[in-house]
Amino acid sequence: MLAVQDLTVRYGARLALDAVSFTVEPGRLMGIIGPNGAGKSTLIRAIMGLTPIDRGQVMLLGTPVFQIRERVAYVPQRSGIDWDFPALVKEVVMMGVTPYLGWLGRYKTEHYQRVEQALERVSMGEFAERRIGELSGGQQQRVFIARSLVQEAQLYLFDEPFVGVDSVTEQAILRLFEQLRDAGKSVLIVNHDLGRVIERYDDILMLRGKVIAWGARSRIWTQENLNRTYLGPVALV
Ligand code: ADP
Ligand code: MG
Repeated sequence: MLAVQDLTVRYGARLALDAVSFTVEPGRLMGIIGPNGAGKSTLIRAIMGLTPIDRGQVMLLGTPVFQIRERVAYVPQRSGIDWDFPALVKEVVMMGVTPYLGWLGRYKTEHYQRVEQALERVSMGEFAERRIGELSGGQQQRVFIARSLVQEAQLYLFDEPFVGVDSVTEQAILRLFEQLRDAGKSVLIVNHDLGRVIERYDDILMLRGKVIAWGARSRIWTQENLNRTYLGPVALV
């Protein structure tokens, strides 16, 4: 259902992704792992159509992804978000509804209810009127997950969602990811470290500028693949 084929991205002369190909089925949780500079964020941004691609294509449900962007929910790496943004929590979540507004662009009661329900689902109901910048890292992640829930996407992209998050919140976030997976969504999670969360992923993509290995975790998780992914500096030319 998500099919990435021959995806190649350059920043000027520098090759960041080299002919990356893989697929993700509905109802799967895939971890994207690799060292710093491996191109994980670039891959997520290229799938979203936020980074120009040199070659290749990204298809979702048989359609080029840029034509159905509203079916993709994306939670960027925390360092990519402007945390001084003066928005309230409820306003951030409301942004997830925007693709579904009519041509007058008015919010309806139903939309406010969906925002409230989504905040309840991530246990952030009490924080609706707070400024997003005042929250802890884990709370901010949950708000962005709530935004992606109201969006009713088919594909979910989370870039380093566990950075700066305590272990209780980490477990809560993992359960939310599993609920999305069990509802038939495709969920991609970027992780640069190799903590215990890895055991919760169905599939793994090991990335180092190019695909080192991908597929069912039980098959991919070998010392040899890990060495090829993590040892030595990342150098693609
Ligand atoms: P990761 O998320 O795996 O750490 P990135 O996708 O952020 O890796 O970066 C991959 C490579 O591309 C790195 O060498 C990085 O310095 C480079 N890069 C990322 N974004 C840009 C950009 N906007 N302009 C130039 N180079 C970039
Ligand atoms: Mg990154």
